[in-house]
Amino acid sequence: MSIEKSGLPISPGFSVGNALLINQAKTIVKKKKIKNSEIVREVNLFQAAVEESKNEINKMKLNDDNQYKIEHIEILDFNILILEDEILAGEVIDMITKKQINAEWALNKVLVNKSKEFSLVKDLYMQERLADFYYIAERITKNLRGLNQDLFEIKNNTILVAHDLSPIDALKYCKDGKVKGILTDLGGATSHTAIIARSLGIPTIMSLINISTSIEPGQRIYVDGYKGKVKWKVNKNEKNELTDLKNKYSSLQRNLFEFSKLTGETKDKRIISIKANIEISSEVKMAQKYGAEGIGMYRTEFLFTNKEYFPSLEEQYLDYVCLFNQDFFDEVTIRTLDIGGDKIQDYTHLENNPALGLRGIRYSLANSDVFKTQLNAIFKVISNKKKKIRILLPMISNLDELEESISIIDETKNKYLIDPKLVSLGVVIEPPSAALLIKEICNKVDFISIGTNDLIQYTIAADRTNETLGDIISHYQPSVLRMLKLISNEIPDNTYVSICGEMANDVNCLPIFIAMGVKELSMNYYSIPKIKGVIHDLSFKDCNEIFNECLKYTCPKEVKKELVGLIKNKMPSYSSIINYEI
Ligand code: PEP
Ligand code: MG
Repeated sequence: MSIEKSGLPISPGFSVGNALLINQAKTIVKKKKIKNSEIVREVNLFQAAVEESKNEINKMKLNDDNQYKIEHIEILDFNILILEDEILAGEVIDMITKKQINAEWALNKVLVNKSKEFSLVKDLYMQERLADFYYIAERITKNLRGLNQDLFEIKNNTILVAHDLSPIDALKYCKDGKVKGILTDLGGATSHTAIIARSLGIPTIMSLINISTSIEPGQRIYVDGYKGKVKWKVNKNEKNELTDLKNKYSSLQRNLFEFSKLTGETKDKRIISIKANIEISSEVKMAQKYGAEGIGMYRTEFLFTNKEYFPSLEEQYLDYVCLFNQDFFDEVTIRTLDIGGDKIQDYTHLENNPALGLRGIRYSLANSDVFKTQLNAIFKVISNKKKKIRILLPMISNLDELEESISIIDETKNKYLIDPKLVSLGVVIEPPSAALLIKEICNKVDFISIGTNDLIQYTIAADRTNETLGDIISHYQPSVLRMLKLISNEIPDNTYVSICGEMANDVNCLPIFIAMGVKELSMNYYSIPKIKGVIHDLSFKDCNEIFNECLKYTCPKEVKKELVGLIKNKMPSYSSIINYEI
């Protein structure tokens, strides 16, 4: 009988391949008492193994035909940092000396203690860093034993299965294109490994509890990275069904790629610019491939949350310069740091209710040095590259915050020789208070972008990270539609309006945005072809009628039915797009 498991869809795509179980046998470590006279030798052996591990990682950085991208190099650097870290090496040496035990055992003990410490930390990002420590410890242990690193060969069509996969393993095993899927027991969307999988375009599912102990080596596995589902031990019928599904995904993908070349023009010739949201700068390449006409929002917090310290001006500058690599886009939108909420917090300032606390622009204004460093990096790119950058401010909830931000931005900008045409300023409309102040906000900025994720969370008072809330937090809720209507009624004429929340990915919601007269939709890059495929069959008149109709409903199911009905009736040929929800 076939077995199916569901986990977190991390990187989209459908693939079939054979399981390669890695990092399975946790190194068995023996405890040995050593004599007083052997302590120095044991410490030296340990230090030599640390040095060797460091050299190996450095070699990976240098010898790899430049296949590693900036964020990959950062991960390698982070591992070197751990190796240089007094905390790991110092604690191990202390234990060898005080307890008179062998280096392997001491290292293992320190790691067990570290994992206990990390499991107490509530922050997901910090918990995910434990994988880096394990990886380093494994490498040192192998070097202590003088073992060769390459334990297995990666064949074509490999699906990597692991309890947890370190970012370095992901880089090492996946870079030559033979790995077609990654499945792990643990891991979350913000882990380094998840980011690497996405940037390499490998279908990946994480949080598949016990997958690494459920699958046999060599097992044929079907990975549906779109839906986060994995299947194996399938019978003949299921195999045919899955092959069918794979073919449907492929042909859909091919058709969708055709759509990626279209412009976002409605039937009655209204132009909507279709752009991409990105989380790491290297995603610009994929965004361009999927038909993005620009970057509508670069969520810069990853660059911040990825580190133990705030990135320097130079580090941020180098990262922002990558947004213009290969001249994919002439203009990009950089959203300033949106720290707080469900994203990483300042550890020195834990809050009872972070979603309502020092989040987004509030954090930047309270830490103006952090804000100014980021702005300096942005202006340095504009002045050196002569490219257009739109600056987007997150979580503005009152006009004082906006005015204070504008004065800091102007003061920083004045230090650079910049053509004013290259900079524009926008606000993400998220808290309902910003929606209520929309007229005044629009009069002070060049554009607005409606952040429906937070707008919905705060309008409904429903936590966007709570998966048990179901329909309560649906974007089909009548209150959400009425909030959007309120905003569009109040927006002054000629304001450039974008939508940057997840709602922009949903084809069914296109009529709402067309009726609102938005000029831009910014979304996950893999949703772009689907949206482009539908947009040109819709007219403002039809969309306006349907939006007005939807505003009369009082329950989300009725709203959804009406919207789905329009898309299906108008465009039967696209129903497959809607069914698969790529
Ligand atoms: C939003 O709130 O809709 C948005 C785009 O910002 P984020 O999802 O990063 O909070
Ligand atoms: Mg938001």
